[in-house]
Amino acid sequence: MTTLEQGGQSLPQERKLVTEIPGPKSRELEQRRKAAVCAGVGSSLPAYIVAGGGGILKDIDGNQIIDLGAGIAVTNVGNSNPRVVNRAKEALEAFTHTCFMVNPYEAYVEVAEALNRLTPGDHEKRTLLLNSGAEAVENAVKIARSYTKRNAVVVFDHAYHGRTNLTMAMTAKAMPYKKGFGPFAGEVYRAPMSYPFRDNAAYGTKLSGEEAAKRVTTMIDKQIGAEEVAAIVIEPIQGEGGFIVPAEGFLPALQEYAQKNGIVFVVDEVQAGFARTGKMFASEWEGITPDLVTTAKGIAGGLPLSAVTGRADIMDAVHGGGLGGTYSGNPVAVAGALGAIEAYEQDGLAQRALEIGEKMVDRCTKLQSRFAEVGDIRGRGAMQAVELVVEGTTEPHPTLAGDVVKYCAEQGVLVLSTGTFGNVLRFLPPLTISDELLDDAFDVMEEAFAKALGK
Ligand SMILES: *Cc1c(COP(=O)(O)O)cnc(C)c1O
Repeated sequence: MTTLEQGGQSLPQERKLVTEIPGPKSRELEQRRKAAVCAGVGSSLPAYIVAGGGGILKDIDGNQIIDLGAGIAVTNVGNSNPRVVNRAKEALEAFTHTCFMVNPYEAYVEVAEALNRLTPGDHEKRTLLLNSGAEAVENAVKIARSYTKRNAVVVFDHAYHGRTNLTMAMTAKAMPYKKGFGPFAGEVYRAPMSYPFRDNAAYGTKLSGEEAAKRVTTMIDKQIGAEEVAAIVIEPIQGEGGFIVPAEGFLPALQEYAQKNGIVFVVDEVQAGFARTGKMFASEWEGITPDLVTTAKGIAGGLPLSAVTGRADIMDAVHGGGLGGTYSGNPVAVAGALGAIEAYEQDGLAQRALEIGEKMVDRCTKLQSRFAEVGDIRGRGAMQAVELVVEGTTEPHPTLAGDVVKYCAEQGVLVLSTGTFGNVLRFLPPLTISDELLDDAFDVMEEAFAKALGK
């Protein structure tokens, strides 16, 4: 057992069950919550957390839970990473807020410089800071429309871009994200995604990235008209859609089409970015150079911050005063981001993401050899998933996913399900998790499959 001297919490890096999960104190809080917090906001695992660090979350009953979620790919650098905490603390004690649109401060500019340097491509770039991923996506669309003087936005099947009105329109899945919340923003068009596992089954042959891109460009040409399109917005690996990695060549073909037709190519790196996939940005896997990149989740070690970064000519097309927000680029959050970026660059986290990925793929392959319900294993680096199906078919098996998640939670392993069909288990541990914890978590998961399937 190793103790983690980081995050101000020397949390022993081991799974520990003191009570059932959720325990009595969590259940009591859950009662209070029901009377105080609106019902529309859910929690995957209602164990109330008091501390986190490395690969462990400690709950109010003293249970130690292995974290395979990282707050949905946010705490890539680990909870309470000291580089983040120290910088944020210092900023907090200096001043809490001025509003960058009223009085600016250096750390905002430093984060912009860092993002301009780190995002794909050596061209001249500019950055806009905001609060959430959805807000970044909305602003990317605003900027693209302002630059192109066009309206249409192309998004994809299985896409997730957020919960605000415009991003709901861009998000694919009705339940729970859109149901009853319309009317939605107009001029948003949905194109077919490259989804190798399902495309190959549907076509009975491999659909190449180029062929999948042709479906998209034909749809744009015939149904919208390329000259009407302001932006194509795509996740390099779809997150909420089920960790769908498009066929090789799909993203470059879309970029080429966008370039040819004066369309702004926006890559939404909110979930896949910041060392998660083993590279600083997932775009790098296919050598694409987006015109605009949206980032959030992993950007500031858990503090709320997001960004749009991209080509200077596009970013600077918007009139003065057209972009901003009261809290956007908050001084504490940008200080935290500088700490997180330092951790990504100096602590070998991208390399660690590759190692974690290799180990997770190993364990998933073992799972698949034992349980034919594991239909597909996919992802990059420390962003891996298994898609569960009814044995011998491609029919989604969401109840199995639910059973596994539930058993794992009871045993102190936090696993998140995802996907359009709710049949994908996604693994997104903090990049500070140990091999021992990963092995323990996957041992529990194997047990969960055996129990659920009676095998
Ligand atoms: C989470 C997510 C968003 C929305 O981010 P919020 O901070 O929740 O608004 C947008 N795009 C992608 C790809 C995401 O995963």
